[in-house]
Amino acid sequence: MKGVAEQGPEAPGRASRTDRPDEHRVEVVERGSFSFAQCGCGWFAPGRRSRDKSRRDAAGHLAENGADSNVA
Ligand SMILES: [Zn+2]
Repeated sequence: MKGVAEQGPEAPGRASRTDRPDEHRVEVVERGSFSFAQCGCGWFAPGRRSRDKSRRDAAGHLAENGADSNVA
């Protein structure tokens, strides 16, 4: 018969973090006739002639990192 005392602590590495680091803040920057997306984590996309493409780059980066799409 197994007692209640057998319930050990939660497995390490599976702790649910409630604090969400807000590292990925992407914004689209325009430079001359080009625009590119850059992120607070240091990532940036190549220059695009279309601001819309830059926004897609930004959204893709956020998706890859599992962040919410909070493109500025
Ligand atoms: Zn990022």
